[in-house]
Amino acid sequence: MSGRILFLDQSGQPGGAELCLADIAGNYRGRSRVLLFSRGRFEEILRERDVPVSVIDAPRSLSAITKEAGMGDHLRALPELAGFLGLLRKEIRDADLVYLNTAKALLYGVAAGLGLRKPAVFHLHDLLTSEHFSRLNIRLIVQAANQCTAVIANSTATAAACVAAGGKAPVHVIPNGFDPAQFAPFPPGEVLAARQEFHSGTGPVAAVFGRIARWKGQDVLLRAAAQIPGLKVWIVGAPFFTGDDRGYAGELRALASSPALAGRVEFLGQREDIPRLMQAADIIVHTSVAPEPFGRVVVEGMLSGKPVIASRSGGPEEIIRDGETGWLFLPGDAASLALTLQNVLALPDRGRGAGMLALDMAQKNYSLSTVLQKTDIVLSGITSR
Ligand code: UDP
Repeated sequence: MSGRILFLDQSGQPGGAELCLADIAGNYRGRSRVLLFSRGRFEEILRERDVPVSVIDAPRSLSAITKEAGMGDHLRALPELAGFLGLLRKEIRDADLVYLNTAKALLYGVAAGLGLRKPAVFHLHDLLTSEHFSRLNIRLIVQAANQCTAVIANSTATAAACVAAGGKAPVHVIPNGFDPAQFAPFPPGEVLAARQEFHSGTGPVAAVFGRIARWKGQDVLLRAAAQIPGLKVWIVGAPFFTGDDRGYAGELRALASSPALAGRVEFLGQREDIPRLMQAADIIVHTSVAPEPFGRVVVEGMLSGKPVIASRSGGPEEIIRDGETGWLFLPGDAASLALTLQNVLALPDRGRGAGMLALDMAQKNYSLSTVLQKTDIVLSGITSR
């Protein structure tokens, strides 16, 4: 498409929605700008990719609004809202299209742009269900989404939940895309070095990737691993957002130091060498206990050619063909995860076969170039009206 795009995103931290945005905004380099509502590593990542980025810090009362927020939280934020929206409105005026990448970007972007008649696209990365949002927030998000020209949903599950909650704007399901070059095999020496950095023994390594949050369920892997002597566990990612995320990280550390797991769990923190670490592990595990909207880590595991075991819910259920391109287990069921892990470890050829099939499927279905083309078709259709 031609014209200037203003991308809005609430987070300064590089979560899945932000990494996806970096790819899309990068495709419009030279005529796009990203505006974030908070500072952090994501801002630097965009700069490293030559994507112009600026930050309008959201006032404290707005940052305090969580997915579970009720009416009181929204009302408390009102006094500070007007000034913030005024700043956003100035930015929106200069754009030909506004791309709202997260729920808060949607809410504040729509409110700030009222009356300006700018085409707006909402990229929906969340499941608008009671497991993730308060009823009030779902209502607000859907009402704002209905003001947009189009919605891009990252999975059939997120699209269906939006429509079920009253979404009326046209919805296009476009998954996240991945650059296969980033997942090309690393030299064996590099992979071995990465493995040895976090594992001095000879046993297999099961790794879980993603930010540390209660609903991401990393404890399920720990409880499964406690039943499998000799299995090493890597927990890759950091708590990004809430006090509960940090509290949960502490609970994971306590669980990891229990006698059944002592010495077998490594916390790697937030990393930027995910493809290399995935190649250095033996099995990639996804453990979300609430439905996952998409699940980038599942596709990344498949692109690494490794066997992937994921929670049977939301996006991963759409991505993996159970028993063929990976394995699915009941969310939160550590015993069933342990059994699946043991089966995959007992039949390495089967694991390798599934990994290869998954690699092929993921390259076909989640190619970044195809996803960028599909996105551009939606954006061009809107701006040429
Ligand atoms: N990720 C990362 N470093 C880490 C852990 C995760 O860069 O230490 C990346 C991971 O590779 C994936 C993204 O964060 O691309 C997480 O996306 P996903 O859809 O799995 O979860 P979300 O953060 O959107 O809930």
